[in-house]
Amino acid sequence: MRLSFHGADRSVTGSCHLIECAGRRILIDCGMYQGGGELHEDNGEPFGFDPAAINYLLLTHAHLDHCGRLPLLVQRGFRGEIVTTSASRELARLVLLDAAHLQEEEALYRQRKSKKHHGGHKDAPLYTTLEALNSFDYFGRTAVYGQPLELAPGLGVTFLDAGHILGSASVLMELQERVARRSVLFSGDLGNAGRPLLNGPVVAKADSVVMETTYGDRRHKSLPASVEELYEVVTDTLRRCGNVIIPTFALERAQELLYFLREGMEKGRLPGSLPVFLDSPMAISATQIFERHPECYKTETRELFRKGNDPFHLPELHFTREKADSMAINHITGGAIIMAGSGMCTGGRVRHHLKNNLGRPEAGVVFVGYAANGTLARHIIDGAKQVRLFGEEIPVRARIHTIGGFSAHADQAELLDWHSQTHARRTFLVHGDEEVMRRFGAGLCHTKVEMPMLHEIFEL
Ligand code: ZN
Repeated sequence: MRLSFHGADRSVTGSCHLIECAGRRILIDCGMYQGGGELHEDNGEPFGFDPAAINYLLLTHAHLDHCGRLPLLVQRGFRGEIVTTSASRELARLVLLDAAHLQEEEALYRQRKSKKHHGGHKDAPLYTTLEALNSFDYFGRTAVYGQPLELAPGLGVTFLDAGHILGSASVLMELQERVARRSVLFSGDLGNAGRPLLNGPVVAKADSVVMETTYGDRRHKSLPASVEELYEVVTDTLRRCGNVIIPTFALERAQELLYFLREGMEKGRLPGSLPVFLDSPMAISATQIFERHPECYKTETRELFRKGNDPFHLPELHFTREKADSMAINHITGGAIIMAGSGMCTGGRVRHHLKNNLGRPEAGVVFVGYAANGTLARHIIDGAKQVRLFGEEIPVRARIHTIGGFSAHADQAELLDWHSQTHARRTFLVHGDEEVMRRFGAGLCHTKVEMPMLHEIFEL
């Protein structure tokens, strides 16, 4: 039995791990590298294994850094079965079609640019929309939280609620090769307990764990304090007659924010007539998918749905799917909340809203999510005095806020607690910055800690 690592090794994105057992090969996630330019190019590199030889792909959740290279896997020969939860399957479709579309657009842009400079250099997208569509043919059985699934004789898997985003799971694998038996638990991304929509992560015992360490050295601020901070920032900005721009991740964060804004209005903390724009076709579709999966929620939220109270509905909520409607928002100079993607401001409509609002001292920009090094969000958070957007230098005069408590990831204390409940004798740390990993690993006891390098192989 072997375990090897092909992404998110001593880094945060590109999750891809491979189990080989009794002649079968099982991949856990096939994510995309996200962030700076070099990482972007890593996506096209060889996987480090033969895609055609993979029998199963177990998908922990639908974030791009976990599912984003899936169409590429199919393009390079994968013909096995993809197993995931029903909500992840729906969200993955959305995420992958969006990714394919973005790559086609970027490729077109590069082709035009290189034509100008060198005359006709071909620069293809990582995969096309058609290839993304083709990859959906390989989605097979659907996993239900807590129900063991026998993929093949001697190969059992159980998806456990990871509490990270809708449909997210940790995957427990029970492996048998001749007389040897091993259990391996892949954490996927772990959520933090005490959030409004989802339940906290479910843990299981295992011989070995492969676990994420995104916030392995940090404690989150409490969620109620963060919600309060959001209400204050919104109220202050409205008082200054500015817009509130919230760069937001389309999955989970956008829906959670809608949930808290609705609550704020119901409690009288925010004006009920406050216009809110969800200016992201992907977040709009994701919200619709969220509305179709009440089975994934906490009892209280499920109850809201049952009574016909959509927890994501606000009196003055505008879904702007069309480009023209999005552009019309440019005329609003103050008094609205504008939520748009991408969360790290590397692309998407939020860049237009930043261009229009960053220079206004009355405006507020609120960062509520992870901002990787090298991204525009990171530059602004780190205090850039001006940023370049659409070929223009834009001064940063708006007030910049970062509210940390909304994270969809477990913090150090929660990760340590999760780990202690696994009783694992061997621990593989992935999905984290190297320094963070080192500090987190130093806090683990009664287990052998490994920090795999890219393509490193371990015998189980
Ligand atoms: Zn994730």
